[in-house]
Amino acid sequence: MRVAIVGSGYVGLVASACFAELGHEVICADNDAEKIAALTAGEVPIHEEFLPELLARHRGRHLSFTGSLAEAVRNSEVVFIAVGTPPTPQGDADLSYVEAVAREIGLQLNNYTVIVEKSTVPVFTCQRVRRVVAMNANAPVEFDVASNPEFLREGTAVTDFLYPDRIVIGTDTERSARILQRLYEPMTSGAYYGRPNAIASPSASVRIPPPLVITSSQSAELIKHASNAFLAMKISFINAVANICEAVGADVTQVCQGVGLDTRIGQRFLRPGIGWGGSCFPKDVMAFRAVAQECGYDFGLLHEVTRINDEQRNRFLRKIRNTLWTLKGKRLAVLGLAFKGGTDDIRESPAIALIRDLEQESCAIAAYDPAAMDRARVELEGLNVTFCTSPYEAAHDADALLILTDWDEFGALDLPRLRNALKYPIVLDGRNLYPTDLMAEQGFTYASVGRPTVAPVQKPLLSVTVTGKAQ
Ligand code: NAD
Repeated sequence: MRVAIVGSGYVGLVASACFAELGHEVICADNDAEKIAALTAGEVPIHEEFLPELLARHRGRHLSFTGSLAEAVRNSEVVFIAVGTPPTPQGDADLSYVEAVAREIGLQLNNYTVIVEKSTVPVFTCQRVRRVVAMNANAPVEFDVASNPEFLREGTAVTDFLYPDRIVIGTDTERSARILQRLYEPMTSGAYYGRPNAIASPSASVRIPPPLVITSSQSAELIKHASNAFLAMKISFINAVANICEAVGADVTQVCQGVGLDTRIGQRFLRPGIGWGGSCFPKDVMAFRAVAQECGYDFGLLHEVTRINDEQRNRFLRKIRNTLWTLKGKRLAVLGLAFKGGTDDIRESPAIALIRDLEQESCAIAAYDPAAMDRARVELEGLNVTFCTSPYEAAHDADALLILTDWDEFGALDLPRLRNALKYPIVLDGRNLYPTDLMAEQGFTYASVGRPTVAPVQKPLLSVTVTGKAQ
């Protein structure tokens, strides 16, 4: 099928590469001319596993890039809108990018087309897009608007797209439902997964083929907001439990294990830390609350979910202060800038917010992140932050080391080397990447989240055997 994707960000670019991988002819449009030039020249602007391989495989064959939305729309049976929906100062979603794209699609439509919202949008956006497209069409033309929310996570975006827990299609007409089912058919029939060169399944437990959920457009829009709000709530919940663990001397890792083994709850997302961030949860929780408000329902729970999240970061800052006594003039090594491991995205990253707070308190920061340093350099320009080439360089002569992002490599550090590099063997781990007893044995003062802070294990004094006669 001929597919256009408008927006070449984390969602649009991954969707473009993956639809091409499924065998469709894809044209990806963006109004950022630099981005399109870079993509056309073979660059990969975001850090995502398997994305470079897929782009190399399909660019110039089943996948092309354009700055012209007209070109993309006029040649396509299905047009996805995958542009940003950032928050307004009031907390609801800013839909001006979606509206601008809908307007332009309207101007260009010449054949029956299915227009699909892939961006995360409030309920009733399908209806609004439909109205804007119709108002701007030059001549009466048939089209449908559907919702196909995206559930990919940055860092594992390609495998999330190709091996999703579910595909949700929200349509209000049979015709568009059939077309979108055909689009995903290589996945829902299982055919894609039998191909010898298919991207491999990320785990043995993924459901193949993925289930398809067909709903009304309103339900699909709500599914996305409700899912993200629930996930954010799960993290805030376990963070609140972690705080109680700290107060009573319990270990939240043990609590999570005991709670998560209940299959109604599950282990996933019971990961205490310094809070959620990123380009989705903060804005989607706010937007969902605004949607509720607009329909006359006060979803106060979501306010609390955000409050706990903000407080979590402040608690960690207090923990740093308590551990180091005073902050002024301290040199702190920071591991992690991205909002989570596996991505270069620093939008709403708790790590960036903490660095700003610490810098305000006159700390000097030596930071390292495997993928997010270029973006962070721009974001933190002018602040007392140096960027290092390894965790050990960051740790060199530092008063303490902070772990702020859950990159796998930060959980596998050479601990003796780290201890030798630091001025004082103090680690504050906002992501609970190490067992506390291991860190104590390795000679660290180790503070984490929801677990007792441990001090270096004292090596027993050498026992001296005195031989000879007692006097
Ligand atoms: P992004 O900021 O990375 O990308 C958006 C792209 O849209 C940019 O490249 C921008 O230049 C382009 N754009 C904006 N206006 C345009 C226009 N008029 N014409 C053409 N291109 C235009 O955003 P993203 O992270 O990919 O998110 C896109 C949407 O998907 C958002 O609604 C987001 O909530 C949702 N979403 C994101 C994720 C995620 O993990 N990032 C996951 C699921 C859903």
